[in-house]
Amino acid sequence: MAALTLPPAIVILGPGALETARRVQRCYPGAQVHALQGRAEGDIAFRELGAHLRALYASGTPVVALCAAGIVIRCVAPLLANKGAEPPVLALAEDGSAVVPLLGGLAGVNVMARTIGDALGIAPAITTSGELRFGTCLLDPPAGYALSSLDQGKRFVSDLLAGEPTRIEGTAPWLDSVDLPRDPHAPRAIRVSPRTWDGSREALVIHPRCIVAAVCRPHAGLADAVREALASQGYASLALAALLAPAGSMSDPAWADVAASLGVPLRFADAAGAISPATPTALLDACGFATHTEANGIALVVCDAPVDPHALGRARGKLTVLGLGPGHAGLLAPAARAALDAATDIVGYATYVEMAGPLRDGQRRHATDNREELQRARHAFDLASEGRRVAVVSSGDPGVFAMAAAVLEALEASDDARWHAVELEIVPGISAALATAALAGAPLGHDFCMLSLSDNLKPWAVIERRLAHAAEADLVMAFYNPISRARPWQLDRALEIVRAHRSPQTRVVLGRDVGRPGGSVRHTTLGALRADDVDMRTMVIVGSSTTRGFARGDGGGGEWVYTPRWYRDETPPAD
Ligand code: SAH
Repeated sequence: MAALTLPPAIVILGPGALETARRVQRCYPGAQVHALQGRAEGDIAFRELGAHLRALYASGTPVVALCAAGIVIRCVAPLLANKGAEPPVLALAEDGSAVVPLLGGLAGVNVMARTIGDALGIAPAITTSGELRFGTCLLDPPAGYALSSLDQGKRFVSDLLAGEPTRIEGTAPWLDSVDLPRDPHAPRAIRVSPRTWDGSREALVIHPRCIVAAVCRPHAGLADAVREALASQGYASLALAALLAPAGSMSDPAWADVAASLGVPLRFADAAGAISPATPTALLDACGFATHTEANGIALVVCDAPVDPHALGRARGKLTVLGLGPGHAGLLAPAARAALDAATDIVGYATYVEMAGPLRDGQRRHATDNREELQRARHAFDLASEGRRVAVVSSGDPGVFAMAAAVLEALEASDDARWHAVELEIVPGISAALATAALAGAPLGHDFCMLSLSDNLKPWAVIERRLAHAAEADLVMAFYNPISRARPWQLDRALEIVRAHRSPQTRVVLGRDVGRPGGSVRHTTLGALRADDVDMRTMVIVGSSTTRGFARGDGGGGEWVYTPRWYRDETPPAD
């Protein structure tokens, strides 16, 4: 059956469903429990069920919803026009007593229903007649095979359900255990072949993905040219397993478009020997293929069985530097979550690698305790240049006193062409100052600056000068790395400089472990602030002369702190 591309979202509406949800979660590494805000605690909070289910469905995410089937159907109903593209959707009874596959018959929903049924010790409510009769979905062949025509497939399965027998032509190992009405003399045949379907109603054609196409230069129209090369030899485009290109042109973005248009993985090889420029034939030789054809710059090799594209040459490596936000899964950007889920390797400071979970078993963790960020960046490039998908994790935003600058510094200093060929992406995150500010109100509502008080990488004199200028300019200031055991006196000195320019009543917000378990936000003033109130897990926001506060309406004694958007310069005009 088709492999799940994304781990499922397990959706719950109340605390009673959490235990069942966690049991399902254990079947799917990377799956997260999405809980209705204010009702239940999961890994991700959502506000409105309908909108959330539709967004998941539209993004192709498999959904296991622990609520009534009818509710789920009504929520996704507006999106059901395109049957070909639907992800699996299942309804699961809160107490784990029933699982009903609803949508995604061609995306493996019944396989999921069986997996969940096994985990919960219940029989899944399978209703697909072909599947009930034959024990498999003929229209959803396993990885490495592709159905030629869905419409023809449906017709063919109806014929079998009506009692017609079938032959099997070609090798289809997964059908050995299937209870099909077989007859070696039947007019109907399930044909496993890379050859194009001839349109016969008596054949169900399944293409093994057993052809590799090698090309050396991407150009507009290349995808069509590959399709034509296949068609001219009688082969179906769906029988293509991979596109092979020269490693030397890996960073050319046009390759990805060609491969996407063909719907196949893109792999790169170094031409055997010192052939320069590479030829398509040399690329296939380098991958160990002996006989093949070449015409118009496209070399094709047709194998006897599906080709595993991952065993062919290497992929273009990807390095994503991403921010985890302050810690809470709800404040992690979906793009960052997607990069984590897609990563083969997670690189970062041990605490953050831990925070990046849940990770799959196969994902390699490279958790380091040392503070040597450049070394970590270099390690990440080494991994990515082997073709791995690497996620480098930072807390907050990766570009704010974190790994993104270290990664770029390592890259700029390198003359290794393989590092420069890596696809590099930086995904932003919610920085500690922003997360702290939001809990307090809007202290960063007007001009502000972010300063690191650490003098590990810059002279203390520079910090003092910047503090003095920022304080004089009446900027709100967000202090990162405010204090540590190795830097005990610096914060007091910094406050002394700021106090020379700001009144003791100036608002101060302290966020500690914001967005993490046990996190807190405290409001104080510049006059009352002591270095003892602060540790290395604290964000210090010092207000400007206009930062103000007022009581919250909830009677809890708290207040909102904000810096108005307007500014009145109180310096009297010179006469
Ligand atoms: N890239 C991170 C900052 C790394 S510097 C970001 O954008 O947030 C580390 C400093 O950030 C800490 O010393 C602390 O001052 C602050 N910090 C990071 N996470 C925090 C959190 N959850 N709560 C409060 N402060 C935090």
